[in-house]
Amino acid sequence: MMNETQNIEEIFGKNVFTVGKMRERLPKSVFKEVKKVIAEGGELSKASADIVAKAMKDWAVENGATHYTHWFQPLTGITAEKHDAFVTHPDEEGRTLLEFSGKELIKGEPDASSFPSGGLRATFEARGYTAWDITSPAFLKEDATGKILCIPTAFCSYTGEALDKKTPLLRSEEALSEQAIRIVRLFGNTEAKRAIPSVGLEQEYFLIDREKYLKREDLIFAGRTLFGAPAPKGQELEDHYFGAIRERVGAYMRDLNIEMWKLGVPAKTQHNEVAPAQHELAPIYENGNVAVDHNQLVMETMKKVAGRRGLTCLLHEKPFAGVNGSGKHDNWSLVTDNGVNLLDPGLTPNENIQFLLVLACIIKAVDTHAALLRQSAADVGNDHRLGANEAPPAIMSVFLGDQLEDVVRQLVSTGEAKKSKKGGKLMTGVSTLPDLDRDATDRNRTSPFAFTGNKFEFRMVGSADSVAGPNTTLNAIVAEAFCEAADVLEKADDFELAVHDLIKEYFTDHQRIIFNGDGYSDAWVEEAKRRGLPNIRSMVESVDALVSKESVKMFEKFKIFTKAELKSRAEILYETYSKTINIEALTMLDMASKQILPAVMSYTGELAQTILSVKEAGADASVSAGVLKEVTGLLGEMKKAMERLEKDVAAAAAMKDGKKQAFYYKETICEDMTALRTPADRLEKIVDKEYWPFPTYGDILFEV
Ligand code: ADP
Ligand code: MG
Repeated sequence: MMNETQNIEEIFGKNVFTVGKMRERLPKSVFKEVKKVIAEGGELSKASADIVAKAMKDWAVENGATHYTHWFQPLTGITAEKHDAFVTHPDEEGRTLLEFSGKELIKGEPDASSFPSGGLRATFEARGYTAWDITSPAFLKEDATGKILCIPTAFCSYTGEALDKKTPLLRSEEALSEQAIRIVRLFGNTEAKRAIPSVGLEQEYFLIDREKYLKREDLIFAGRTLFGAPAPKGQELEDHYFGAIRERVGAYMRDLNIEMWKLGVPAKTQHNEVAPAQHELAPIYENGNVAVDHNQLVMETMKKVAGRRGLTCLLHEKPFAGVNGSGKHDNWSLVTDNGVNLLDPGLTPNENIQFLLVLACIIKAVDTHAALLRQSAADVGNDHRLGANEAPPAIMSVFLGDQLEDVVRQLVSTGEAKKSKKGGKLMTGVSTLPDLDRDATDRNRTSPFAFTGNKFEFRMVGSADSVAGPNTTLNAIVAEAFCEAADVLEKADDFELAVHDLIKEYFTDHQRIIFNGDGYSDAWVEEAKRRGLPNIRSMVESVDALVSKESVKMFEKFKIFTKAELKSRAEILYETYSKTINIEALTMLDMASKQILPAVMSYTGELAQTILSVKEAGADASVSAGVLKEVTGLLGEMKKAMERLEKDVAAAAAMKDGKKQAFYYKETICEDMTALRTPADRLEKIVDKEYWPFPTYGDILFEV
């Protein structure tokens, strides 16, 4: 493995059926048809689909593939695959011919009955269909199974209800494109046919020793530690962030990069993160749909590759209490097919006004749908970050930086913004709008939604979560704002005046969402409350926003989700929450009764013996007696907490209403879990290390 080539050019995309490979392998006319469908949508003819399927299969088989699969993203948040070998029924001579038809490429019919559907299946059809997504390239997955040709697909019910995360994402990209084109047309862009989101995802993760991982049930079952006292050292010295990468971690990063490059994922940046044992990988941005697929591959490969170096990769948002958790930064911009980034302030005045309108629309969208956008980043693990004094806060706000905020202030207060802070003055097409300098924005690590030069960075997303949801929501709310702006401006008699007024109106009405200060401070919580911004502290509290009247109306208007699809997702969110906390609670009970209690009891036995011997020898045993008393006191506390947790878990399991149950888990079970953890963590600090039944934070975080 060490000798494997590091020539990036040679290995990049090796396992991908790229556009380049299609160009080589397909007849010109078919290739043209494929390119057209990728760029403009629509369907391949049956004859062409057969030709593409054959070329794809030949390429895969030449490269050692034995099976193919429709690779999809059910509502579990991870990916699903069911392999079929290319073999066909043996002929008379006993040979098998390898076949793969256009029909098999385009449509699949996996048994969908065991995926979460949130009631969609009951009301519609039991069957689920997978449909080829031609815009995301097929690839070869290479592992112990061999080589599997993976075809990215959407997953729907017979009647077309989306049972997955890709379908709504694709729908949202289409809606956004359509509305964005209306906007650029207003500014004289007649060439662009589509606008596509560019998405760059920074992925954080923890890397720990596999042997130690296997000694902790909580890591195995819950992906995070449910017990654990802080180590004497945490992240306070700030010596891990960007620090020199240790050998074993470096070897892992190297393996990971090679796998990612082979899969055509442009893995670029790697570094140590803030918490000990925490790291980050950031690929270069790609078009939204592909970036979302690639992030699934990144997460999966991160876990897979770790085993090779005796490591385990944790993607949970909060594997360890007391040090930073992990997130995912969703860098998002919008680019037309003729190369204009709508979030680039641009060089000419014309672009500049367009930029200000786009910015105003996004501000309006985020303010109008703040709760919904917050919801899109909610998952069970993320509750430990958002709203729990960790980056970023649960309150949605937008960071614009000094220069842009100044422009907005001028526009709002005087109706004009003739100068910009750094760029000096500039007469634009409309004399009341300033020039903008894209390097004039600074950084703010506490903002959940920050403008960073030519893109927004949505920083709330959880590290283990699928980014399909957050991007679907973001695309949808911006599409709506673009649509409303275009409705007004297309009818305007005096466009220049109308666009000026609209920008001013949007900034004025929605300026409350702009916040450039410290998002972690208590003062901001108060200030946000005064401004009327929602502060949704948990996942279960966020779900309502998904099925609110406004959300349903918006998603239905742009044909992204039906009401039934939204309700199904809400149901699944509650269910997932309850099930996850239930697993955590049961794991705690198991560890407490089978590991911690016995260990502590053995230790108290030894202590008691010691006390007796010391006394017999006529010496003072008061220190040992004091320790014994403290330990048995904590043991009693633990036992009481265990009994309560056990009783409440049974009560939770009996609840029928999904929403009520989820709230009960959040309010009662989580509290019980804390009550159990507290004495156990105290005990860890007192009990002889020889007795402690599993590796501690110190063992895990500092010994990779
Ligand atoms: P940071 O300093 O926050 O790490 P980077 O410039 O390194 O910012 O970018 C982080 C991510 O944002 C990378 O994935 C990068 O490719 C992506 N990115 C850069 N420009 C854009 C853009 N215009 N649209 C979307 N993503 C972008
Ligand atoms: Mg960043």
